[in-house]
Amino acid sequence: MDRVLIAANWKMNKTVGEAHRYMVDFLPRLTGWEKTEVIICPPFTCLAYLREALENTGIQLGAQDVFWEPEGAFTGEISAAMLADMGCRYVIIGHSERRHILGENDQDINRKLKAAVSCGLVPIFCVGESLPEREQGQTQTVVREQLEQGLAGLELPNLVVAYEPVWAIGTGVNASPADAQGICASIRRYLGGFQVNDWARDIPILYGGSVTARTIAAFTAQADINGALVGGASLDPEHFASIVRLNSDG
Ligand code: PEP
Repeated sequence: MDRVLIAANWKMNKTVGEAHRYMVDFLPRLTGWEKTEVIICPPFTCLAYLREALENTGIQLGAQDVFWEPEGAFTGEISAAMLADMGCRYVIIGHSERRHILGENDQDINRKLKAAVSCGLVPIFCVGESLPEREQGQTQTVVREQLEQGLAGLELPNLVVAYEPVWAIGTGVNASPADAQGICASIRRYLGGFQVNDWARDIPILYGGSVTARTIAAFTAQADINGALVGGASLDPEHFASIVRLNSDG
């Protein structure tokens, strides 16, 4: 697949003023990045500002979460239609911080995926094993289960999958590119079980977990890795621009 996606997950960082200062620094640095699809997923509170700031830049806007109900008495939640209305094209679903800190389970994630797809959003569906699961040799089983339960009842959705080993997120420790390639290839094989023409071949599969400008090229060089979901290293405009540029030059 020629398509390469680099998505920034800002997590719970940046006020609108900080997002503005970031863009003033970031946008002029993005020369020669046309080969890459860049996605920025800020906190909900920055979506309105970024929708305007990213207009005519080609950079896509994404959210970090969504609730599964379409509307109603769900204090604090945000629906898929609201995100679409804010100009979001993507939404991260099933991030390990939501699974582990906020207690989201595979059924919640399945409902969120369905809600997002029904409103035309493209989910960035995160899967990945914890360190104990990895040490017990359960990586393939855990990831397969997350895919199976998350995608239950969904018919060939427009989708991005992010393989994010939990032990690599925010720790400065990467999976090796070869290891990540192995899991991403098995994710693609699993999606291939859904059959029907080339759907699985065309699903972008991202690696996430402490990616930096130093490591990005080794991941995107892998046959089944079509980009990266970048947390910590996306918070600095100069660093994130160099991740995008390095990838585009490669
Ligand atoms: C993430 O939040 O999805 C992530 C991969 O974070 P980091 O790059 O900081 O490990």
